[in-house]
Amino acid sequence: MQKKDPPILITRPTLPPVEEYESLVRDIFASGYLTNGGAQHARLEAALAEKLSAPYLRLFTNGHLALECAISAFGFDGGEIITTPFTFISTTHAISRCGLTPVFCDVEPNYFTIDPAKIEEKITPRTRAILPVHVYGNPCDMDAIGAIAKKHNLPVLYDAAHAFGVTVRGRAVAEFGDASMFSFHATKCYNTIEGGAVICKDTAFAERLNGYKNFGYHPDEEIREVGGNAKMNEFQAAMGLLNLKYFEQNIEKRAAVSARYHKNLSGIDGLSFRPVPEGVQQNYAYLPVSFDPAVFGASRDVVFETLKSFGIIARKYFYPLSSEAACYKGAYSPEDTPVAFTASRRVLTLPMYPDLALSDVDDICEIVASCQR
Ligand SMILES: *Cc1c(COP(=O)(O)O)cnc(C)c1O
Repeated sequence: MQKKDPPILITRPTLPPVEEYESLVRDIFASGYLTNGGAQHARLEAALAEKLSAPYLRLFTNGHLALECAISAFGFDGGEIITTPFTFISTTHAISRCGLTPVFCDVEPNYFTIDPAKIEEKITPRTRAILPVHVYGNPCDMDAIGAIAKKHNLPVLYDAAHAFGVTVRGRAVAEFGDASMFSFHATKCYNTIEGGAVICKDTAFAERLNGYKNFGYHPDEEIREVGGNAKMNEFQAAMGLLNLKYFEQNIEKRAAVSARYHKNLSGIDGLSFRPVPEGVQQNYAYLPVSFDPAVFGASRDVVFETLKSFGIIARKYFYPLSSEAACYKGAYSPEDTPVAFTASRRVLTLPMYPDLALSDVDDICEIVASCQR
């Protein structure tokens, strides 16, 4: 097989027809209103609140600052937040940057989401909240997490960066917990170029989010919070409106790509797909496969390098664990979460985007299969 030129990257951002974007850009130019909650922003906020069944939805310039603002809006005065080390480092940094200490709980071996059976042993008098992550869009065991949170009177904030559009038994993921953060970064399955949102159930919480993303300002000119600047601008919102229009269509294409991977790679010893929890409608945001080196005969890293030699760029997602990051060195021992540690050494996410050609999927699968010894 020939090396792919141009290379096949892990993902490509979904883009609407450029003429449609131009048309909205013309509207923005005509309005002379670029940010601070203009017409596109208002339209997108309403459209997403409906799409995600949200009582209150607030837009942000990116997912990370959305998460920081959400943590701030709880008003904790220091303390610990129980979370998972098997996540994008943003989750961990958001907790730390808000002046709290991340406490890592191990993940469940099938879905790699936080293991509810191991949460309670992490609760101390300093615990302020639980911050689980819907890894690869697979929802956490939200009933179990909700029961623990209720018993200990702790709020739950979900990092739902991967879970746009995912439902569980017909219910949107953001219907669970006190608040959820979504990321609309260019690499996510729904994008606003950069962007994010927080969904919450409480009007006062939503008000505080407004403050944290805009220097603490409120319509009555009262400056109530020590807020920063995390507002979404009109050009981002316009992109979001158009991508929303094509979202379901893109999910169908992703589903076809996913089905092709499954067809090609099922039944290979030592290679496994992530199972999908019962009742879950997926968004096919990622295509994670795990390699058990003892059975497959080659490590994840060998598969990664082999794909790379053919111009195919997969991603070790998530590697390293948050608890291994150089900036947290000494504070944690990654072996304390052995399931997450093993997952970080075995998982490879393969290229996945709506317009990935099925013939390219076949080539990727052929190379992956050829690594088996
Ligand atoms: C992408 C991502 C974030 C951060 O979102 P941005 O929009 O890139 O700032 C946070 N958590 C997880 C799990 C993510 O994948």
